[in-house]
Amino acid sequence: MTASSIEWTELTWNPTTGCTKYSSGCKYCYAEIMSKRLNAMGVEKYKDAFQVRIHPNQLLLPYTWKSPKIVFVNSMSDLFHEEVPADFIMQVFAVMNKNPKHVFQILTKRAERLLKMAPELKWTENIWMGVSVEDSSVIHRVDKLRDTRAHIKFLSCEPLLGPLPALNLQGIHWVIVGGESGSRPRPMKEDWVLDIHKQCEEHGVKFFFKQWGGRNKKAAGRLLNGRTYDDMPVILARGSAAA
Ligand code: SF4
Repeated sequence: MTASSIEWTELTWNPTTGCTKYSSGCKYCYAEIMSKRLNAMGVEKYKDAFQVRIHPNQLLLPYTWKSPKIVFVNSMSDLFHEEVPADFIMQVFAVMNKNPKHVFQILTKRAERLLKMAPELKWTENIWMGVSVEDSSVIHRVDKLRDTRAHIKFLSCEPLLGPLPALNLQGIHWVIVGGESGSRPRPMKEDWVLDIHKQCEEHGVKFFFKQWGGRNKKAAGRLLNGRTYDDMPVILARGSAAA
């Protein structure tokens, strides 16, 4: 496990690593850059750099965390990547099912495979399932997420690359928005963010504004309307969660 600097989680847990690009949000994939860096540093887990790999030896880790954690699953991969065996995905879910004191946040761009596998998976309340929605060309992912039985469903609109004026937020509990950072970030317009925030308010959906991004994301900060937005689904008790 690794303590995470991502604002909406506490730890990352990567039972799989590696991926392949899937949609425009992947262009400057942070996981790819980091995997190559870790490979160059000789880190064993990344000896195959960004190739998709499963790590069965990571499956016991959540059992070792004494205090309850909020865990981002697979920050360095996409759990529903076509090269990750279905059996391994089931094993990852079994670990999450057996560790109800931890909240597990899974984020995928492979909404098709998520929906296909969803009926076989056990959706305990501590599993928060999200899809990435970077622009309107991938808005269909929201419908696929909605059709799963995940108790908490969320959208990550990061990097936000275009307006999303017609989000169907029915059954969605949480929306994260953020701009792209790095050396060649694609711009995010304030109007796009404000519009998503308005849609969340209208539908009673929690809204988290992560960052403006840009070349100097620290300087750009994360204020919107002069304030921060850090709403998250409420964790009622460790072991059960509700929006
Ligand atoms: S799906 Fe995620 S991990 Fe995979 S290439 Fe795209 S941004 Fe990177």
